[in-house]
Amino acid sequence: MKNQRSSALLEALSTAPLRLSDVNDANATDGADVFGCHVFGLDAMRKRLPKDVYRRLARIISEGGRLDPAIADVVANAMKDWAIEMGADHYTHWFQPMTGLTAEKHDAFLSPTPDGHMINEFSGKMLISGEPDASSFPSGGIRSTFEARGYTAWDPSVPVFIIRNDNGATLHIPTFFYAYSGEALDRKIPLLRSLDALSVQALRILRLFGNDTAQRVRASVGPEQEYFLVDRRLAALRPDLMLTGRTLQGAPSPKGQEMEDHYFGAIPGRVMSFMQDVERELQKLGIPAKTRHNEVAPGQFELAPIHEEANIACDHNMLTMNMLRHLAARHGFVCLLHEKPFAGVNGSGKHNNWSLTDSEGNNLLNPGSTPQDNAQFLVFLAAVLRAVHLHGAALRLGAIGAGNDHRLGANEAPPAIISVFLGQELTGVIEGIITGKPAPNTGSGVMEIGVSSLPPLPIDTSDRNRTSPFAFTGNKFEFRAVGSSQSVAPANIALNAAMTCALQDIADELEKATAAGKTLNATLQELLPRLFRQHSPVVFNGNGYAEAWKEEAASRGLPNYPDTVTAVEHYSDADVMQVFLRAGVLSEREILARQEILFENYAKTVRIEGDVLLRMVSSQILPAARRAEDSAARLLMHVRAVSEDDQAENEHFRTLRSHAGQLQQAAAGLAEALAICRAATDAHEMARVARDTVLPAMRLCREHADALEMLVDDELWPLPTYAELLWTH
Ligand code: ADP
Ligand code: MG
Repeated sequence: MKNQRSSALLEALSTAPLRLSDVNDANATDGADVFGCHVFGLDAMRKRLPKDVYRRLARIISEGGRLDPAIADVVANAMKDWAIEMGADHYTHWFQPMTGLTAEKHDAFLSPTPDGHMINEFSGKMLISGEPDASSFPSGGIRSTFEARGYTAWDPSVPVFIIRNDNGATLHIPTFFYAYSGEALDRKIPLLRSLDALSVQALRILRLFGNDTAQRVRASVGPEQEYFLVDRRLAALRPDLMLTGRTLQGAPSPKGQEMEDHYFGAIPGRVMSFMQDVERELQKLGIPAKTRHNEVAPGQFELAPIHEEANIACDHNMLTMNMLRHLAARHGFVCLLHEKPFAGVNGSGKHNNWSLTDSEGNNLLNPGSTPQDNAQFLVFLAAVLRAVHLHGAALRLGAIGAGNDHRLGANEAPPAIISVFLGQELTGVIEGIITGKPAPNTGSGVMEIGVSSLPPLPIDTSDRNRTSPFAFTGNKFEFRAVGSSQSVAPANIALNAAMTCALQDIADELEKATAAGKTLNATLQELLPRLFRQHSPVVFNGNGYAEAWKEEAASRGLPNYPDTVTAVEHYSDADVMQVFLRAGVLSEREILARQEILFENYAKTVRIEGDVLLRMVSSQILPAARRAEDSAARLLMHVRAVSEDDQAENEHFRTLRSHAGQLQQAAAGLAEALAICRAATDAHEMARVARDTVLPAMRLCREHADALEMLVDDELWPLPTYAELLWTH
């Protein structure tokens, strides 16, 4: 064969891994040396700021709050000097609008003086707030057109950093993004609100257990990032990969993931070089990239950082995704963060590992070794079960998206039903508490909860159940339904808000009882069995992929929202809104705006996919099929001329013709579906049409296009195949 495809393939196969010293400043070789060198962190601040200013800033960073304008100029000046020494000539407020991506608009430090000179200027005001002309970001109607501006404000809890390329560097200032009315236009504001609310309620529980010293409870998050790498030259021949991040057509590769030879296998050289490059850049930004390995599908990989405070972890994950996408180019790859780039092989998720730690460093989800710790652990465990049981619909909203719909519930990822996996032993313990009988293996007499006699909890941290969307893994919960391309903010906002509500209910009850003179022990003795009994329907240790689980879950009253449109429809249910309202995380207007944005985003994503597929069918796939038909017809004539037996050729010709004809019809159907979608009057309707009309029309096109791929001469087929895309690294 000799065509564009084969040339791209040959080039890809003959590409050597990049030497990092050719592309990266080679002076620092040790990871620990470079860690955080592009961040204006506490150390840099201490060195460059007057003592009292440093102390005030450090307090804001650890306790929250906005920067005091009185010291802003001093801080800004020190930042500017540092950034210029690092080669920066521009700065940008860096924010996270509701597009799901990050946004930036750069300004030079250069500024004219009255006497006609230029100086580098960066004032406290420029640091603290900005007014990007941001009228084109989605607001769900919050910004009316006459007040179209959005405002940005520095989030001092995340340090500023520089991003450098060969020609210069830009100082990045992580900021909030909000409307004139003060309403949130981003995901950072509600995330911080949720973290504050959670801390307040968790501290009430700690106080009840006699802890008077902890000042704050923080959520820690470690997001495991999965992604695919595809050779850039091959990807460039596929409009679907370039424009939508997934293949909209593609017959299965004869060799897929069935040999399980890719998972944890030796990392291919070019990929390794890419990973090292990414890790080095992330380390410079103070992102603790820790683990790398091949994932289950061919061409699929994972990067996991060490967990960090939730707000920082979320920013860092956004930066990580940016770096993966950006650095792939120089290694000759395209990095696909889409949840399902290839049909028939595993998709990509983002396990959101989540735990709670008090300001003294104690992990509150760690069972602990004393009976007192255990009792406290059980209260937090009960709160998690209550949060997930009562607010599963809110959590489901943390894991939506047109891409994730191809993954959730598709027999390879957690189902769309949100349940909790606890493992046998912990389940045994809570059953023991419910029935008042000792758990197996605990060796105690009658189970009593509280500081007196609860035995150490036997927790098997090796418990694994990959089919559960929300699993306890020893000292943290792993929310596995999140999609690989998504911000982890919505998942954590929902999780924190649900947990806030649950902890508040429990703290109210415990405080009331103890204020009335009942001991904490006696109150727990009564409360915990009741809570565990009430919320045990959310515990499911079985196979989440099984069809039977759907029925079982329905009989337990657990919601099953199988797709994004259904889940987003429930955003405005009274009980779902209540979770966010009660925790003070989102106002009613903010919720309704978000609902609108999510419908719109879903509809647009599907529509773009439909348009791309239509174009591929009419300008690439059908023309190839026609050429193949021509040559098949010629062959058939030739065979007929020389022999009686033309059955095989006839059959081939007819099948080819039949699929081409049906594809043409299906494409007309898709065009019609897209027109209906465009004509829809509101975002909700448009999303419904996208799901119910456009997606099925795309599936029908794909069926015939995939069949044609198997029939058309390889030389004539224009699109790199699954085998080529998945196995060329
Ligand atoms: P797995 O077996 O699922 O790969 P690991 O123990 O390797 O689990 O951890 C995966 C992720 O969980 C990492 O990002 C890690 O930093 C994070 N993690 C570990 N402990 C905690 C914790 N206490 N809170 C939040 N995340 C955590
Ligand atoms: Mg994991």
